[in-house]
Amino acid sequence: MYELKVLTRFAAAHQLKMVTEKCENLHGHNWKVEFCVAGKELTSGVLVDFGIVKKQLNEIIDSLDHRYLNELPAFSDANPSSEQIAKYIAEEFERRNGSDGAYRVSRVAVWESDDACATYIPQR
Ligand SMILES: [Zn+2]
Repeated sequence: MYELKVLTRFAAAHQLKMVTEKCENLHGHNWKVEFCVAGKELTSGVLVDFGIVKKQLNEIIDSLDHRYLNELPAFSDANPSSEQIAKYIAEEFERRNGSDGAYRVSRVAVWESDDACATYIPQR
């Protein structure tokens, strides 16, 4: 199994309901996203061109960047927590990329600060 990882970042605001008083206040983060895809077979020595993964990922990240996440349809039924952001990125990538290719999303880690990270690992 091979796993590729790309890093990206975005800045956005959110409010978390029912967590703690501090998180319920409107605030922002400079999120760092570690995005991984994995697969077993290489083609011409690579799992997938990094540029293809980055292009698809950046389209998703652009839809989050400099936004108030609570207002986005993706989070109309869910708190835009780091956990939910990681899950959204994974599922949106799979939706756009299809699920029958040589690689699939293996994990998405979303850092909301230097010492706090939530990871989503798709279960198959
Ligand atoms: Zn927060």
